[in-house]
Amino acid sequence: MLEIIAIEVTTIAQKCRILIDRAVQQAVVVDPGGDVERIMAQLLEHQVRVNAILLTHIHIDHCGGVAALQAALQQEQGHAVPILGSHELDHKAKDLLELQSECFNIPLTGAFENTYLSDGQQLNFLPNYPLEVILTPGHSPGSLCYYCPEAQLMLTGDLLTHGGIWTRKQPGSNREHLMASLKRLKQYPDATKLLFGHGPDSTIGQEKECNPYLSAD
Ligand SMILES: [Zn+2]
Ligand SMILES: [Zn+2]
Repeated sequence: MLEIIAIEVTTIAQKCRILIDRAVQQAVVVDPGGDVERIMAQLLEHQVRVNAILLTHIHIDHCGGVAALQAALQQEQGHAVPILGSHELDHKAKDLLELQSECFNIPLTGAFENTYLSDGQQLNFLPNYPLEVILTPGHSPGSLCYYCPEAQLMLTGDLLTHGGIWTRKQPGSNREHLMASLKRLKQYPDATKLLFGHGPDSTIGQEKECNPYLSAD
């Protein structure tokens, strides 16, 4: 069984998620934007070993806590846990993190070394639940979705929200690319659960009905 724990972090309620492969008590943490003590408390309570930290894109609410989490895990587990994602098209976004940190009052807990991922890559950090990397630019140039076919779910970062998209213009955001990414998303099964960075979860089928950006072709 794949257990998913969502923790709302930062001043803008970004959903950090812990994915736990219960059979082996191993986990990955996706988008630890902040409030690292609360993330660590959940990890300790569930007694899991973290194999990787994954990022959907490089915005402060998704990666502000990454350095502190990596340090805390190093202490707890005795080895460095790798940080992966997003796509290298996001690399310029790293320079904006300090500014975003001030604007949104979200601490940047330090610089971090991440390995960028490419479209179509398969990640095997959870033995029973491989994740597929999908490059979905638009909200940011290097935004990724992580698709788990075994559990029929997708972590979408800020590609879309329930019933809409992020309309605020961000440095590097691109409406045309966003529409192409949403079109690509629609090709996955309707039953696929969508886990957004902000707000309630949904499914692809539900969004096709209620989200004007997905219902248009
Ligand atoms: Zn966000
Ligand atoms: Zn974002």
